[in-house]
Amino acid sequence: MMEDNDNDDGLVAGEGFFLGQEFASYNEFEDRRLAFQENTYCLFVMRRSERSQNNILKFNKMQFECKQAMSTRPARGKKPHHESYKIGCEARIHVAATTAGRLKVTAFHDVHNHPCNETTYFGYPEVQRMF
Ligand SMILES: [Zn+2]
Repeated sequence: MMEDNDNDDGLVAGEGFFLGQEFASYNEFEDRRLAFQENTYCLFVMRRSERSQNNILKFNKMQFECKQAMSTRPARGKKPHHESYKIGCEARIHVAATTAGRLKVTAFHDVHNHPCNETTYFGYPEVQRMF
């Protein structure tokens, strides 16, 4: 299938993602994701994934969520009947493999409900492991 989308929305290469964006390999996607994290100081962690037999793509599906998505759980014992109490950040990046053998961004939401800063970012154990 041929797709010819003009995505000239003023996005600078190396900055962020956009819906429908495609990557030729897992490494290409990861490079972009890591650069994006370092530019924004927001850590995305993989919450769900589906392995691929394709060694270049590595995954059929990846769902990244902001590190803060799950970190605001209510204290135990408080408001036990209130189920929608989770106030997690909803920033996320979802990627899925296409039939053409590329990784495509299927969801991208980069609005955070909390500040992202250098101090917090480099305090994450996931980030410290990268260095
Ligand atoms: Zn966030």
